[in-house]
Amino acid sequence: MSQKSPLAAYIHIPFCRRRCYYCDFAITVTGDRALSNSSTMVVDYVNYLQQEIKLTSSPNTSLQTIFFGGGTPSLLPVAKLGEILTTIDQRLGIAKNAEISMEIDPGTFNQQQLQEYLRLGVNRFSLGVQTFDEKLLKVCGRSHDRQDIFTAIDLIKKLNVANWSLDLITGLPQQTLEQVERSLEIAIATEPKHLSCYDLVLEPVTAFGKQYHPGEQPLPSENDTAAMYKLTQQMLTNRGYQHYEISNYAQPGYQCRHNKVYWHNESYYGFGMSAASYVAGKRYTRPRTRKEYYSWVENGALIEVEEMTKSDRLLETLMLGLRLAEGVSLSKISQEFEQQTVDRILSGLQSYLEQNLVEIFTANHDQRLRLTDPKGFLLSNTIIASLFEIFE
Ligand code: SF4
Repeated sequence: MSQKSPLAAYIHIPFCRRRCYYCDFAITVTGDRALSNSSTMVVDYVNYLQQEIKLTSSPNTSLQTIFFGGGTPSLLPVAKLGEILTTIDQRLGIAKNAEISMEIDPGTFNQQQLQEYLRLGVNRFSLGVQTFDEKLLKVCGRSHDRQDIFTAIDLIKKLNVANWSLDLITGLPQQTLEQVERSLEIAIATEPKHLSCYDLVLEPVTAFGKQYHPGEQPLPSENDTAAMYKLTQQMLTNRGYQHYEISNYAQPGYQCRHNKVYWHNESYYGFGMSAASYVAGKRYTRPRTRKEYYSWVENGALIEVEEMTKSDRLLETLMLGLRLAEGVSLSKISQEFEQQTVDRILSGLQSYLEQNLVEIFTANHDQRLRLTDPKGFLLSNTIIASLFEIFE
């Protein structure tokens, strides 16, 4: 499983126009000016990124998925994206039918750019919308307005992009259930093939983290956010979207292949500042600032980490796999970690099984375990924490 050479690569592009108030990602704020091919910031970053990729030993298999995330990858000049893809192809190989995803933000790309991305081989776009409510966009500190979102979607449609996704957030300060419903209605009407709907997580270092406290107004209450989650699940599944992961929905055939690599606890490369990789059973997170990342690359991009223990691997398999509607295979767990481990999992989850928060089912002669939708998914943190108590 984790020992195979990775078939997936995540590339971190750290540039953002400004920092959204809820975001703690490793980014560099660029302001509203467009980044040019000759911008020192861009040239340097792409150079170091390419160096890091070139320092990776060549595998004997090609990549099946590549994901440009950030940050705002659509701020990167097209030619630079092309250079990165060429380096990846030369060093790691890109399979013919590879899924190449890119996060794009409204207001940061035009038709020509989108056309160029497609020409370079990008075949899946993830549009960061968060909400269609003008006031809430401001509350979040987003760099775009509602009209920018519609312009971005019009461009995607005009170019007949077959595979695109839209991101929404629930649980925002001042957000009501009606606003969530309205955003979902508009989102559904735009017919994305995939939607990611995240519940706001208050990170302490962010503007939101400093200003708001969980469970206190103007944040919606726990009951309200649960209602938002259920409403999202209901509206999207009624419209034919498969709820394939706690926060992700897709039309049949459009689940994100790249993200499933993470949830299946399979190996992946990570390149760029703050990017995490999981190669040969070792996890490694790169330095979070450009300066530290550059000196790490200059020193040979060395990955020095402890090998994961068997129990770490088991807990990660459960924690990640239980996010998926397909759950985890008990037969595989029994093969890799012995039947006794499966017995311990099931006895530890007994009360959740009785409350119908967790269920055992059979698919293709495989006995599997999953959280129920939406009841179990809503309590995923508690249920997964109880598994950690059993095995730690
Ligand atoms: S655009 Fe995305 S990565 Fe950039 S600050 Fe906003 S949420 Fe964070």
